[in-house]
Amino acid sequence: MPETPYFVSYPEALKILETQPLSLSTEFVPLDDAFNRILSKDLESKVDDPRFDNSSMDGFAFRHEDSLNPHPPLSILQTVQAGTNQRTKPIGKGQAARIMTGAPIPDGADAILPIERCEVDEKNSTVHLTEEGKKHFIRKKGENLAKGQIALHKGTHLTPSSVGLCATMGHPKVPVFQQATIGILSTGDELQLPGSELKENEIYESNSFGIASLVRWSGHKPKRYDSVVDSLDRLREKLDIAAKECDLILTSGGVSMGEWDLVRKIMEEEGDIKFWRVKIRPGSPPLFGYWKGVPLFGLPGNPASSHVVFRMLVGPYLRASTNGGGAQERRVRVQLAESFKSDEKFLVLRRIKVDTSTDQLLAYSTGYQGSGNLNSLVLADGLTLLEPGHSGEKGTWCDALLL
Ligand code: AMP
Ligand code: MG
Repeated sequence: MPETPYFVSYPEALKILETQPLSLSTEFVPLDDAFNRILSKDLESKVDDPRFDNSSMDGFAFRHEDSLNPHPPLSILQTVQAGTNQRTKPIGKGQAARIMTGAPIPDGADAILPIERCEVDEKNSTVHLTEEGKKHFIRKKGENLAKGQIALHKGTHLTPSSVGLCATMGHPKVPVFQQATIGILSTGDELQLPGSELKENEIYESNSFGIASLVRWSGHKPKRYDSVVDSLDRLREKLDIAAKECDLILTSGGVSMGEWDLVRKIMEEEGDIKFWRVKIRPGSPPLFGYWKGVPLFGLPGNPASSHVVFRMLVGPYLRASTNGGGAQERRVRVQLAESFKSDEKFLVLRRIKVDTSTDQLLAYSTGYQGSGNLNSLVLADGLTLLEPGHSGEKGTWCDALLL
């Protein structure tokens, strides 16, 4: 394969992926279905937020100067509730309105005192203010957002708070990127579905379930196929079906150097490979290319590796396809609490537990780091990003990706 970029560095792999993202159109979804989707257009507010000056406290509204000491009790003129359809009366000198949180501020009033700092004389309908009135308990019209202002930008991952903000801005439906349908195809003669009877030398197939969950986590739609045996003909048939039904294909297994690594073989002979092998550890075997015009990642078969490669390569590729949107990776700086095996040429991604109880974040190994050991990934809340050449010694610092 002389022309195929082979054994590329991690930044080189990202560069190749980011220059050929998926093209995803826009669809409108109701807010009930908007969680975890990715905005495909900027969203303007249809209203001012707040829509009108209102109280942030249950209490009394009055003229600030009437609360300066010494002052007589104020006469209670009215009660104003949130959502009232009554016209409020203007507050004059020596007057106050009983007011609820979210209720409009009557004209003339410019300060609030919460109910617990007021002494009410119900018989005489007066209130004694025990403190100076607070102007900051009035939420001003438009102080959060002005009508027409863009509050959520194209590419925003719709989290619970941003879905709420879409509603605050008055949008019953929002424009989002169409979800990519992502086909997941495991390969290997030894693989059987959990629940089935295992013959000697067979194992439960786990990657397709883990990867399907990663696809959902990233805001897209998985289509999980039954695993395919190690046969070029069966593999070709399955790849053809997946290419018709999906926007992107993720295979697992069969991309290393072995004789039965048929995904690599079929992609070499009949596909179009853009890179094969990346200098990351674990997870160095992956390939990226096209099968019948459909982009395809060949992920490693080892369960921990396939997960890590999804986070490191598929995640950035999907984000590049949605203007940077989707579930985001968070990086933090950690200090190594023990020595880790690093590498001169590879970016090393050790599974770590991050201790957050001290001033600095301390990284501990989750134990045996075999690439087949999914449990060590379950125990991890991060991956080191030990740059090529990093010593990995106890006490040194590195970036880490939070999982
Ligand atoms: P391969 O990349 O096909 O050589 O597989 C590497 C290792 O991962 C082997 O031990 C396989 O049995 C295991 N493996 C491959 N695919 C899966 C899968 N879908 N689920 C669980 N283990 C797998
Ligand atoms: Mg295999």
